Amino acid sequence: MSSAVAFTKDTLPPFRNEPYADFSRPDTHRAMQEALAAVRAQFGREYDLLVAGDRVRSSEKLPSINPSAPEEVVGVHQRATPEQAREAIERAFRYFPVWSRTPAERRAETLLRAATILRRRKMEFNAWLIYEAGKTWPEAEADVSEAIDFCEYYAREMLRLAGPHPMIQFPGERDELIYIPLGVGVIIAPWNFPLAILTGMTTAALVTGNTVVIKPSSDTPTIAAKFAEVLAEAGFPPESFSLITGSGAAIGDLLVEHPKTRFICFTGSKDVGLRINELAARPRPGQIWIKRVIAEMGGKDAIIVDSEANLERAVEGVLVSAFGYQGQKCSACSRAIVDQAVYDEFLARLVARAESLRVGPADDPANFMGPIINERAMNSILHYVEIGKQEGRLVTGGGRAGGPGYFLQPTIFAEVGPEARIFQEEIFGPVLAVSRARDFDHALELANCSEYGLTGSVYTTNREKINRAREEFFVGNLYINRKCTGAMVGCHPFGGFNMSGTDSKAGGPDYLLLFLQAKAIGEKLD
Ligand code: NAD
Repeated sequence: MSSAVAFTKDTLPPFRNEPYADFSRPDTHRAMQEALAAVRAQFGREYDLLVAGDRVRSSEKLPSINPSAPEEVVGVHQRATPEQAREAIERAFRYFPVWSRTPAERRAETLLRAATILRRRKMEFNAWLIYEAGKTWPEAEADVSEAIDFCEYYAREMLRLAGPHPMIQFPGERDELIYIPLGVGVIIAPWNFPLAILTGMTTAALVTGNTVVIKPSSDTPTIAAKFAEVLAEAGFPPESFSLITGSGAAIGDLLVEHPKTRFICFTGSKDVGLRINELAARPRPGQIWIKRVIAEMGGKDAIIVDSEANLERAVEGVLVSAFGYQGQKCSACSRAIVDQAVYDEFLARLVARAESLRVGPADDPANFMGPIINERAMNSILHYVEIGKQEGRLVTGGGRAGGPGYFLQPTIFAEVGPEARIFQEEIFGPVLAVSRARDFDHALELANCSEYGLTGSVYTTNREKINRAREEFFVGNLYINRKCTGAMVGCHPFGGFNMSGTDSKAGGPDYLLLFLQAKAIGEKLD
């Protein structure tokens, strides 16, 4: 680490979103193909656990596979034992006093270096995402760009929160407010944004001065191992983070319940999030705090297509939101709620577009959709398709697409009522329910008829209806006349209502406060 910090919050250029690579350019296209070849040459390598800088192994292994070609092993990882997980928490606890007192400017500078490294290794990270998570080229590019954005944004946010924060001055006193970190954080990440969400949650915790134990998804441990390389190269001290791979069920409870765990930052399914919330609420012997839980969970996101919508734009918005990354985004559109005046025309156009989408290996840039993440998820989606056949009218798709990978056809059910399971339950795949609304009131009623409240979108040209949606559509992220996926750091702080989570608003000005506690200091002046 260099000795002097090279910037202040006033000299740092303002945040801007990372531009996406343009793969239609021959040089960029070639660079991506070279990165795919270079990453492929590393398939099957074994990766260690990282416990406060120590590389350790366990006897049980966790292979990660390429869902486009399941016989290919992308990386071999360790299944951490309970003792290793416990050791990671203990070591993080021991180092917390050092890292928490490292100046905020130094921590922010380290995070900016992480952004620079990610930018330099962008094509390589794209390739890991393509092979391990089944992302197409543009989806991988968006994931890595978002990770870079989180680093750049949270570094600036930390400098802002480092103060000063003007307080009302009580006569005869100097009154101040400062933000201090919490302690040891357990970071539990999903596979669907295996770099962006992992990076966002981890770096928010680290830049605010906490130490972390990172538990990535068992489906995407190689991406997490590569991210740990970035943290180390950027200069985060080895003792400030541990990387613990293994099944969530085997070590998750232990990490959450440990009395030295101060907070849990989780993104994943509703069931796991609720379990973590419940376990974390119960104090353990020796624990002297209430654990904080940041839990971002599932969605059942709706797009309303009004009678006064631009139908062409609505069809494209629904298509991309429902089938981009195979519908495996928490923000994905899984319900299209369409005014009866335009229902038939909308459905016919949407089905024609869905049937034109190419599905196949994610490393082939001609494919719009890649594979489902794993066999279990694919079977669960196919099970929902069978349920859907009893609940609505299957108008396209409904089965596997060709090839050895976990490929599914884009699937659309029409005439789906609000009581249907495929209208209420998160399927997390390329399955869209289309419902008929009598009018705009009914459309809003149907959209809100869900225990979730993550994203939603409305297509209409009517200003009054837009205003009503702003007030009445109960979601954490509302979009007007655009898709309901693709939240941008800084522009669309992200997080949902109700069973979608704690509305933490990642990538927004409130987020880092979740990793801090405020201390008020009043000093009597003589
Ligand atoms: P998941 O809940 O199955 O797993 C998430 C993480 O929790 C994984 O690392 C897993 O190993 C771990 N885990 C599993 N059991 C655990 C336990 N008992 N204790 C502690 N950790 C445990 O979710 P997933 O399949 O990885 O991700 C998909 C889900 O995530 C979907 O529901 C999706 O909507 C949601 N998601 C939400 C957001 C958001 O911002 N709201 C973003 C992305 C994904």
